[in-house]
Amino acid sequence: MKLQINSLSKTYSNGVHALKDVSLTLNNGMFGLLGPNGAGKSSLMRTIATLQEADAGSIYLDDLNVLKHKTEVRQLLGYLPQEFGVYPKISAERMLDHIAQLKGVGNSAERKELVAALLDNVNLGKDKKKNLGTYSGGMKQRFGIAQALIGNPKLIIVDEPTAGLDPAERNRFYNLLSQLGENTIVILSTHIVEDVSTLCSNFAIICQGEVLYAGEPDIAVNEMEGRIFSKAIDKAELSFYQDDFSVISTQLKTGKLHIRIISEMDPGKGFAPAVPNLEDVYFSNIATRVDVNSI
Ligand code: ADP
Repeated sequence: MKLQINSLSKTYSNGVHALKDVSLTLNNGMFGLLGPNGAGKSSLMRTIATLQEADAGSIYLDDLNVLKHKTEVRQLLGYLPQEFGVYPKISAERMLDHIAQLKGVGNSAERKELVAALLDNVNLGKDKKKNLGTYSGGMKQRFGIAQALIGNPKLIIVDEPTAGLDPAERNRFYNLLSQLGENTIVILSTHIVEDVSTLCSNFAIICQGEVLYAGEPDIAVNEMEGRIFSKAIDKAELSFYQDDFSVISTQLKTGKLHIRIISEMDPGKGFAPAVPNLEDVYFSNIATRVDVNSI
């Protein structure tokens, strides 16, 4: 499967230009859409999920015109939205059975088998009789994945799935997502760089509605080799360094401010070469657009 997004644009009625000429190509596997809050990630996800219109541009899933043939797309789609509400007084098992029915799994024996398999798959088998209102954040997200998987979707969209999960829940969720990718396109929207470095074979950085970078995480990090330098400074000195260097990130550790800069040559002044990582790629791309160094 291939998802081709061509020159997609969207301006909301309040004048916010949420998507500006977005073009991306996605193949099977896990694709990370990385960007700060307000970047346009959800707008893009909702458009691909056929839930809102674009002003211009096209989206094709292989030969299928996504913006035109919504019903066909929905049959191939699994979607876990950012705000995933659950009915608190219904058990996971009953709710999933109901969703499966809505998605057209008519035969009740078949449904029962499907629901049990899905809940086992997301490790909720032993909690399937519990009401959804009693689930933790991580359990709700795993339930969300189970419902998105009904009907063997070819395109799965998960919007900011790890926000609000504790580290153990996030790990469990990573393990679950990483099993999905091989024969489907999974789009994971996130503002958490670690989500992308852990899970995604391809990714794009989006900011203020524009794609700033698209490629493979490893290649993106290699491109930074020899260009990242770090130094611990006093907090009060930051503005001096910002005037003279391209500061891409700052981190306060035990009273000292650790800054990372991008430079094509050795900057001297006590900076040490640093091993680049995906955060450097992310921050160096968005640094010109948003203030990443306010402390
Ligand atoms: P992200 O998912 O990356 O946080 P969004 O797509 O939600 O970004 O938002 C992109 C921009 O569009 C933001 O400025 C947001 O306030 C605005 N926006 C999102 N949805 C709407 C809407 N329905 N009406 C008007 N503005 C919106």
